[in-house]
Amino acid sequence: MIVDGNALAGALADLLGADPTTTLLRCRGCGALDALARTRVFATAMGSVARCRGCDTVLVTVVEAGNRRWVALPGARTVAASG
Ligand SMILES: [Zn+2]
Repeated sequence: MIVDGNALAGALADLLGADPTTTLLRCRGCGALDALARTRVFATAMGSVARCRGCDTVLVTVVEAGNRRWVALPGARTVAASG
């Protein structure tokens, strides 16, 4: 069955939940599974970068551009709700 992206709305809304810091990220670099809260975040003029504590892979980037916020998960193989 093929449907449009609306089918994923519930899953994505539930993913971050009330406390996004507990969201689990699987590192593409070393395979570690850990909560967003345990990443090391580097704030720069362009935005923020969250790196894996184990291998320094860039897990999450957040860039503020005009009236939009762009979030990428370049080093997160998978993301899961903590519950
Ligand atoms: Zn890692």
